[in-house]
Amino acid sequence: MGVRALGAFSGGLDSMIAALLLKSQGIEVELATFASPYYSSEKGYRGAEQLDLPWREIDNTDEMMTLLKNPPSGFGKNLNPCIDCHAGMFRILGDIAAAEGFDIIFSGEVAGQRPMSQNKNSLNRVARLSGYPELLLRPLSAKLLKITDPEQRGLVNRDLLQSISGRGRKPQMKLAEEYGIQYINPGGGCLLTDPNYCDRLRILMEIPGLFTAGNARLIRHGRMFRLSDDSIGLVGRDEKDNDGLESLAADKITFTLEERPGPTGVLIGDPELLPELIELVKRYAGVRS
Ligand code: SF4
Repeated sequence: MGVRALGAFSGGLDSMIAALLLKSQGIEVELATFASPYYSSEKGYRGAEQLDLPWREIDNTDEMMTLLKNPPSGFGKNLNPCIDCHAGMFRILGDIAAAEGFDIIFSGEVAGQRPMSQNKNSLNRVARLSGYPELLLRPLSAKLLKITDPEQRGLVNRDLLQSISGRGRKPQMKLAEEYGIQYINPGGGCLLTDPNYCDRLRILMEIPGLFTAGNARLIRHGRMFRLSDDSIGLVGRDEKDNDGLESLAADKITFTLEERPGPTGVLIGDPELLPELIELVKRYAGVRS
């Protein structure tokens, strides 16, 4: 069997190039995209399809729910615990590599691309925290970083890897052109970097018992109201919100008007507050009480 590499794959340009840098050396590359209430694997799926490489989704919801309660390395600008999040993802990949016989784990991280989470020190810290520092290769910046075990063992040719750093995208665009890959638009990023979503999540985290994965998914939709110290109401703004709320509200109290089209309301918390939710739904449906 040849050399095998398993990559953390967002489906963005950098992760695509990282995969192709290894594939072009004859390495068997497989890709994995993480999914949780805060990010989806959709873009990774599409990117892997474009590259025609084997792909899997890894749901790391449980790890993220635990991590968000107390990230050892702290949060970024919003509720994004990027250092520990990355380390956790690489820990999972390292475990899979050990179980399934991969020789390398890799990512499309670029040194210096993000001031806090992707400077050289952070990349080293993430590698250390992951528990697999010797296996973790960053092909785009490899020549700037400490030599890894697969490079040392000659499983991957370090000379053919890159020394890209910083926020500029030119070297990546050039490589994308050489490889003939189409850049998939950014977007569908991590909600933990979105200030509006994080305002909602903070409220959920502050009410005992409400910080669950299901609720973290629900609050992606609709207007959100604090109905009391321990309860939240969500009211759809449009059809998309209503569909989103209805698809996720299985174990919740919901309310819609029977007599006319209007928003869907969802109650998270004390059932006694249903009248308040009904009032909100009526108000946004334009019904006078
Ligand atoms: S942006 Fe989100 S998914 Fe990416 S490392 Fe940070 S917390 Fe994790």
